[in-house]
Amino acid sequence: MKSRVICLALLLLAFAVITKAQTRPLKIYISADMEGVVGVVTNEQLGPQGFEYARFREFMTQEVNAAIEGALAGGATQIVVSDSHGNGQNLLIEKLHKDVTLVRAWPRPLMMMQGIDETFAGAVFIGYHTGTTNSQGVRAHTMSSARLADVQLKGVSVSEAGINAAIAGHFNVPVIMISGDDAVVKETQTLLGDVEGAVVKWASGFHSARTIMPDASYQIIRDKVTKAVRRIKDFKPYKLSGPIQVDVRFKNYRPSEVLSYLSIVQRTDAHSIRFTGKDMIEVSKFLEFIVTYEPGLEP
Ligand SMILES: [Zn+2]
Repeated sequence: MKSRVICLALLLLAFAVITKAQTRPLKIYISADMEGVVGVVTNEQLGPQGFEYARFREFMTQEVNAAIEGALAGGATQIVVSDSHGNGQNLLIEKLHKDVTLVRAWPRPLMMMQGIDETFAGAVFIGYHTGTTNSQGVRAHTMSSARLADVQLKGVSVSEAGINAAIAGHFNVPVIMISGDDAVVKETQTLLGDVEGAVVKWASGFHSARTIMPDASYQIIRDKVTKAVRRIKDFKPYKLSGPIQVDVRFKNYRPSEVLSYLSIVQRTDAHSIRFTGKDMIEVSKFLEFIVTYEPGLEP
C-alpha cells in the first residue's frame, strides 16, 4: 500500500515536471533586414523610391511570418520581431502573425537588436547580407553602404550579423538561424559556427543573383527555424568580453575629423576612428550615434 502511494506521488511529480517544462516560456527574437530577402538584387526592391518596393515588402513580411511559424512549430512561446532595414517601417503590420510584438523605426540604442534581453532563448536573422569587407554577396555592406568602409570589433572586421550576434551574446542569447544569399550564410557560419542557414539566392555580384521563388523561400525558412529551435541547446552565444575596441573606417574624411574632437574618440588615420566601449551596449549606442547624428535632427 505504502509503495503504491509512493508510486502515485512520483507519477504526479513527473507529470508536474513535464507540464512545467512544456509551459516554460521559450522566447525567440527575430531581426529582419531586406537585402537578403528572396529576389532582392538592387535598390528597386529596397526603398520607397524603387518600382518593386511595395511587392518586396510583402515578400519580406511573409519571410518573417515563415520564421514566426517555424519558431512556434519548434516550441517558441513568445516572439519579438524588429524591422531592421532602411527606415525601419517595411514590414506590413496588418499582415504579420498576430501573436508577436514589433520594434519599428530609428534611432534606437540596440539598433537591429532593439528589444532583446537575457530572457530570450535564441535570435534569428532574416534577410541578412554580407559585410562591407566581403567581396561576395548581394548589397554587401555594414550599417551604411554610402558611409562606412569597415567596422571592426576587437581588431576583427564584422558584418551586421557579427555586430548583432555580439549584442545578443551580451545577453547570453545565441544566434540560431540566418537567411539570405549563399555568401552571408557562409560568412556567418564561419564566424558563429553551426547556425542553421537558409539560402534563398546565390549571389553573382553586388547587384545580381540567381534566386528561388518566394513560396519556396517561405518553406525553407520555416523548416530551418523549426529545426534551429528544436536543437536550441546546441548553440553558444557569441560573447565579446569588455573593454571592446571599435574601429570604424568612413568612406569620406570629415566624419573622422569631426568625431575626433570628442575626447572619447581617437582618429587612427585620415578615414578612421577608434572608440573603446565597456561592453556591447556602449558599442551599439556609439555605432548608432555615428550613423544617426546630425545637428539638423528634428524634432
Ligand atoms: Zn543591413
